[in-house]
Amino acid sequence: MAPGKPPTHSKSPTGSNVKNVVLGDLLFKTWYQSIYPEDLVAKDTDRLYVCRWCFRYSCDVDAYVKHTRVCDNKASPPGTKVYEHSGYSIWEVDGEEHKLFAQNLSLFAKLFLDHKSVFFDVASFLFYLLTFSDPNDTQNQDCRILGYFSKEKMSWDANNLACILIFPPYQHKQLGKLLMGVSYKLSGWEGDGGLIGSPERPLSEMGWRSYSRFWEERVARYLLLGSQRQDSEETQLQQQDITSHTTTTPEGSKRRHSTESMTVREMGLAVGMLAEDIITALKSMGVVEPEKSQKKRKAHQPHSPDTNTGADHGVQTVKMRKSTVLEWAKAHRVALQDPVREDGFLGKWAPKSPHEGP
Ligand SMILES: [Zn+2]
Repeated sequence: MAPGKPPTHSKSPTGSNVKNVVLGDLLFKTWYQSIYPEDLVAKDTDRLYVCRWCFRYSCDVDAYVKHTRVCDNKASPPGTKVYEHSGYSIWEVDGEEHKLFAQNLSLFAKLFLDHKSVFFDVASFLFYLLTFSDPNDTQNQDCRILGYFSKEKMSWDANNLACILIFPPYQHKQLGKLLMGVSYKLSGWEGDGGLIGSPERPLSEMGWRSYSRFWEERVARYLLLGSQRQDSEETQLQQQDITSHTTTTPEGSKRRHSTESMTVREMGLAVGMLAEDIITALKSMGVVEPEKSQKKRKAHQPHSPDTNTGADHGVQTVKMRKSTVLEWAKAHRVALQDPVREDGFLGKWAPKSPHEGP
């Protein structure tokens, strides 16, 4: 993993063993050891108080309460807002500019991350905080940090994400998918000079499960809805489609359930995913039609200059029936509406208006 690989492991006896944390008004159990400095956090601490705005910590409740009255990040998280939709926002925080914040966030996160190491060299990372403030509650505009992901500023392996965590009280709300989707968007694969990325390996067991499902859904949306985002009306239509279809042949004039045939590389370019991740998704979905003949279809790839290595999975042509994909999506209750909304991106990530050109 990333810089300054510390000699820690989750089961390492040198980690501090905090049993519970108080994060703002929430109390919950920790999952793993972290590496809080021993002089500040005793080895067996029953309860660690963590500021929910800046992640400063203390074992002393009075010191904690005193801090929360004056915390600098109370009004707003640090960094720049890059995404906002339905009350959910994502803030980009530069680890170099906000070192203490990033270190404290990493220490806190380590309590819930198994194999990922905590590193103090946060300067070479960007942190993306997921926050929520209720858009309908104008009285209370409190911004709650629900989780984050980090990303190396310069990744030689084109990793689009290093660590990801939704804090335990906010899990099981599909928020991880929102962060993963945003991490793909921010890798800029659609634009010039953008790279198709993937999360840093190795993934934890939970990380692997989350990513497999995320990839499956991404591929399913692409196969059912076509390339890139559809306008919301069509998405809604197809959403009805997915919930109301019976297994009989669809009536009506539109024959959507045709067979799609493309190379893994083509699909990867369309959805911004590595060929190996596409293959992982297709395999676990079980939607690829078996090949009638095993003839290699390596011809017909005039525009793939770098696909001539024998080991490249990208040249593999796969054939899928849309009806099979639809069945899979129904069985797995996949919402066809992408949790990441294109119009939620701000600043340089904001969608360009048609007359602005590419
Ligand atoms: Zn604070």
